[in-house]
Amino acid sequence: MAATVHSPIVTYASMLSLLAFCPPFVILLWYTMVHQDGSVIQTCSFLWENGVQGLINIWPSPTAIAWKIIFCYGAFEAALQLLLPGKRVEGPISPTGNRPVYKANGMAAYFVTLATYLGLWWFGIFNPAIVYDHLGEIFSALIFGSLVFCVLLYIKGHVAPSSSDSGSCGNLIIDFYWGMELYPRIGKNFDIKVFTNCRFGMMSWAVLAVTYCIKQYEINGKVSDSMLVNTILMLVYVTKFFWWEAGYWNTMDIAHDRAGFYICWGCLVWVPSIYTSPGMYLVNHPVQLGTQLAIYILVAGCLCIYINYDCDRQRQEFRRTNGKCSVWGKAPSKIVATYTTTAGETKTSLLLTSGWWGLARHFHYVPEISSAFFWTVPALFNNFLPYFYVIFLTILLFDRAKRDDDRCRSKYGKYWKLYCEKVKYRIIPGVY
Ligand code: NDP
Repeated sequence: MAATVHSPIVTYASMLSLLAFCPPFVILLWYTMVHQDGSVIQTCSFLWENGVQGLINIWPSPTAIAWKIIFCYGAFEAALQLLLPGKRVEGPISPTGNRPVYKANGMAAYFVTLATYLGLWWFGIFNPAIVYDHLGEIFSALIFGSLVFCVLLYIKGHVAPSSSDSGSCGNLIIDFYWGMELYPRIGKNFDIKVFTNCRFGMMSWAVLAVTYCIKQYEINGKVSDSMLVNTILMLVYVTKFFWWEAGYWNTMDIAHDRAGFYICWGCLVWVPSIYTSPGMYLVNHPVQLGTQLAIYILVAGCLCIYINYDCDRQRQEFRRTNGKCSVWGKAPSKIVATYTTTAGETKTSLLLTSGWWGLARHFHYVPEISSAFFWTVPALFNNFLPYFYVIFLTILLFDRAKRDDDRCRSKYGKYWKLYCEKVKYRIIPGVY
């Protein structure tokens, strides 16, 4: 059975509001960044004067060139996912006892993608600035195309599920929204969630960061230090992601959240448009920070990305070695937690209670949010909109921490209670 994460009423409300507000928000954010100087006030007064018709007028049609760019990019990434060599990696055991197997070739795909993109530019075959020039049409095509993709996922979940980690909760809307399959695949090897989340979504983040930089260079004949700091930090973050991609396959997104509208539409549309938005803003706002300030921001951002990586690494190393590792130079303190799978088997997991995981139960979200702040702050404080991603991420991660706590409480029962007594704070040590 598909796990319903929130009550049906919350799911209906969030699904309807995501469906109703996210697509226009993506278009309005792009329009404000690119055509209204990043000013929310200017866009609001435009909408005030022109109403819904104004929104319809600015909504770009998905043009042939937009579809071509998306198709070429998607097909290229799918081919890399299938064809590049990689180590065989096993994911965590699923609730019904399956263990998904992956090919870990994310880092290779990342380098091939960036090298190809820069190569196409360098040799004059394709100008990345074209992507920026057609960004509205691309987002518009992604909005509609991804919705159709999610409908197909829903149908696949019903008629051709890839594994026993699939099922309906009996409610069409919840099935569509939260998804039916945990590990949908095409054939035996093409993992759909690896494609949507990693190779399309996360990869597009790096590709668009580079695109914005090149576009600013094309407009001004040079790249501002603020754009450089933003692009470097985003690339460091995405490089970290692909370096650790096999670890990502153990996280909630892959191991717990099913392939539905929530995760797939989010990765196909929200990540390329919203996550990259501070860079989109900087294209026509070439702020000069000065070398000293630029270096301070760069170092602080890199430090946060490193700490976030180290939190994930610490937890996964602890699990991989069955607790026989060193955490901050000492043997780790832990809770041995037993739980029962849906098949009725009793299993054991270890919960780390020292190191980063002893500070708070989701401390890793603090450096995640701080990194986002540091790649946004080069935009300084003339406009609010570049900070939207940081605010959105804070809300997302606070909700995620609660969802994860609820899930772990029902999985581990008294052992989770014990963990909460030992590690009292949810995210910010001493505060929350
Ligand atoms: P994880 O899935 O990596 O960690 C939570 C899981 O770890 C829990 O479900 C539980 O799973 C296990 N766990 C919990 N506590 C412990 C413990 N003390 N010791 C050992 N295992 C424990 O979290 P996320 O998926 O939320 O985050 C992964 C990364 O992705 C982070 O770096 C995060 O910042 C990033 N992220 C970024 C987002 C973005 O939009 N930018 C969004 C979400 C995440 P189990 O059932 O195995 O016990």
